[in-house]
This record gives sequence, structure tokens and C-alpha cells, in this order.
Amino acid sequence: MFHIEKSDEHSHILRLNLAGSPVEWLTWQEATTLYARDLVTWTLGDTLRTVRGGISRMSGQRSMIVLHSIIACEGELQGGRPKKPALNNRILFRRDQNLCMYCGKEFADRDLSCDHIVPTSRGGRNVWGNVVAACKRCNHYKQNKTPQEAGMELLALPYEPNPAEYLALVNSKRIRVDQMDFLKTQFSKNCRLQ
Ligand SMILES: [Zn+2]
Repeated sequence: MFHIEKSDEHSHILRLNLAGSPVEWLTWQEATTLYARDLVTWTLGDTLRTVRGGISRMSGQRSMIVLHSIIACEGELQGGRPKKPALNNRILFRRDQNLCMYCGKEFADRDLSCDHIVPTSRGGRNVWGNVVAACKRCNHYKQNKTPQEAGMELLALPYEPNPAEYLALVNSKRIRVDQMDFLKTQFSKNCRLQ
């Protein structure tokens, strides 16, 4: 059994593939498993925890694993390929900073909706590049029209978050500074995350 020595209760560990692309967030338990199986190739960032294991019968030494906040490894998990970011409203609203992309005002999640720029009834697809956050009023006003037909202007172009942006959006409240600094180096120029 592992015993936690130094605790950083709410932090997750950022897992990269060997090429340095962010893949996913891991709990410290999941990361410990990768360390124990010798799958962690290199690490970045600060020490998150020190996990002590049992005493080895061979050496009489207590095993110890130092978990870093960012780890790169091979392994079976998703084949090391970054996930295709799934489209959902919560992440969409964060991408658009909780602003209506038509009137520019800020709204709580419950007062926003997902607007298909080219309406789905007109063949518009349900993909990142065709959706923006819109307040209910603007969405209602736009109805089944394109922005041009409705005389409305988009304040920013929609984009599909890359893996770094997606992981930042998914876990926005719990990211450590060292992890965010790393992710930021891979943000695209469209990204409005701070
Ligand atoms: Zn609006």
C-alpha cells in the first residue's frame, strides 16, 4: 500500500506523450501506477507529492516515488494520442469566456445557449467550428438564419480547441501555475484563455 507523504490534495497531474503534447489529466493514484511500472520517461514542473511504498525485502530500502506535476510517458492509455475534444456546452461557454458572441455581454452558463452559426436545419454541422455561445435573446432573434441573414456580426471566430487548450478548459479551476505555463506555450493565436 502507498502512503502519501506530501500532499497537494486537489491537483491533477498533466500527462504528456513523448512528443510533449498534452494528453490528459491524471489523479496522483493513476500517475503512481505509471511510475511504478516504469513508464514515465521524463518530467517537468514541481514535485506534487512524495509517495512512499513498502520496504523491499531485497534491499531493505523503502520504495519512494516522487510525483511531478507534469509527466511524459508511453503506455497503453489512449495510445498516447491527445483526445479529440468532445463538444459540450460547458467547455464551449468557457472557450467563449461566457460572453455572448453576438451582443458581447457576459452571462452565467444557465443563461447561455449553443448557437449553430449555420443552423443545423440548414445543413450546419455540430462541430466546434460552427458553434458559439449566445445569450438566449440573441439566439432567439437569430432563429433559423445565418448571421448575415439576421444582420448580426460574430465578435470572434469559433475554433476547435487544440489538446492544450482543451485540457486547460476542462480543468480550468485546478490548474497549477507550472502546468498552465506549460499549456500556454501550446495555445493557438485564436485562444482567448489567460
Ligand atoms: Zn446576446
